[in-house]
Amino acid sequence: MTHGAFDLRGKRVYVAGHRGMVGSALVRQLAHEDCEIITTSRAQLDLRDQSGVQGFFCDRKPQVVIMAAAQVGGIYANDSQPADFIYDNVVMQTNVIGAAFKHGVEKLTFLGSSCIYPRLAPQPMREEALLTGPLEPTNEWYAIAKIAGVKMCQAFRRQHGVDFISAMPTNLYGPFDNFDLASSHVLPALMAKAHQAKIAGADQLSVWGSGAPMREFMHVEDCAKAILFLTRNYSGEMHINVGTGEEVSIKCLAETIAEAVELKAKLAFDSSKPDGTPRKLMDSSRLLGMGWRPDVTLADGVASTYQWYLKNVSA
Ligand code: GDP
Repeated sequence: MTHGAFDLRGKRVYVAGHRGMVGSALVRQLAHEDCEIITTSRAQLDLRDQSGVQGFFCDRKPQVVIMAAAQVGGIYANDSQPADFIYDNVVMQTNVIGAAFKHGVEKLTFLGSSCIYPRLAPQPMREEALLTGPLEPTNEWYAIAKIAGVKMCQAFRRQHGVDFISAMPTNLYGPFDNFDLASSHVLPALMAKAHQAKIAGADQLSVWGSGAPMREFMHVEDCAKAILFLTRNYSGEMHINVGTGEEVSIKCLAETIAEAVELKAKLAFDSSKPDGTPRKLMDSSRLLGMGWRPDVTLADGVASTYQWYLKNVSA
């Protein structure tokens, strides 16, 4: 593993996907840096259009690229639109990585997700688990695309000596999360359900499954800080896990959310719904070993996300 300080000061930094949960957090964090942030809307530039992407790099000349643009979605979206998930992601990242190489970008950070690891990877999941077993079939389209991105960054490093790295965030939450109950992950889903229960004066909060599964949650602001930390301080072939190293049970998460929402209700575990995998935790010891630490506790992160939800979603 190589460490080397890369200075973002005075650099033109292109955040691809700045409207998304991670991209928007990156823009908020970069606003504290002495650098020029470059973004472009989907209407102005479709990242699936190779010549458009080349033209954009030629005009705007980014020196640093953070690839946070992706076609993302929950289990249903992944399973029902497999062509979009594999095609859009492979093409967008290929166009951005290719243009970054061609236009001499000094540093590129590619973002993936924990679903790149085999379905039955030993827990906590180490970076070395990549490509050691079959993927979870419901999201393999997305996972294969992301794995191709990690490998492409490695290949460009090896063949051309460029400084392209990859970061794999754990389950994220925070502003601009998806609160739609049909397609959201557990944290925003329980937050929206707890809010509705409070408004309705209900005395129960429905929690899917047994409440026993263990999950890791990271606030997106911490994730953005970790990505910038890696962009500055890490230069190596191995992709790096980005997580807190802490896990909680779904029951404990539901209690934390009920407290933030000030909902006085009993948890009602719905055993007709699946638990999913019993434990999903990333091994982030590489990142933590470099000295990085998250700032936001789960209780604080849930409380501030609820305030954001009240202003931006429930209104
Ligand atoms: P996973 O991490 O890929 O399993 O995806 P989820 O975030 O959707 O679910 C994590 C865990 O939370 C599972 O055990 C779910 O059964 C449980 N869970 C409890 N209540 C809910 C809910 O309202 N929505 C979702 N999506 N999951 C819930």
